[in-house]
Amino acid sequence: MTPSDRWVAGGCHCGAVRFRVQVPRWTAVACNCSICTKKGFLHLFVGADGLQVEQGRDTLTEYRFGSGTAQHWFCPTCGVHPFYVPRSHPDGFSVNVNALDDALVRERFTIEPFDGRNWEANIAGLRDPQ
Ligand SMILES: [Zn+2]
Repeated sequence: MTPSDRWVAGGCHCGAVRFRVQVPRWTAVACNCSICTKKGFLHLFVGADGLQVEQGRDTLTEYRFGSGTAQHWFCPTCGVHPFYVPRSHPDGFSVNVNALDDALVRERFTIEPFDGRNWEANIAGLRDPQ
């Protein structure tokens, strides 16, 4: 697989937000914290250069809570959370694997659990995955 093959497309449900993400590893993180559970967000962490927002960035609505560090973005029309700036990776993005277009691409990911309910005790392992 060449580097260019690792760019995959996704978006929100209504089509207002479209993006491409460069997949660094075929591992997605399922976090059990309060907001990830309710959103059904599957995390793919990428650096700032790993996400290209092709349209709709200005339409995203931001939600913050708790420490206020994470910038939770969602489409105000369809409610989908395609990507955001996570507290764990403030210089990059977390892309929602569930917002990728291609089911065959989504199914390539191995899902790893993350105990986000005990965030402080576990965050080091999330930032430096083995
Ligand atoms: Zn939408």
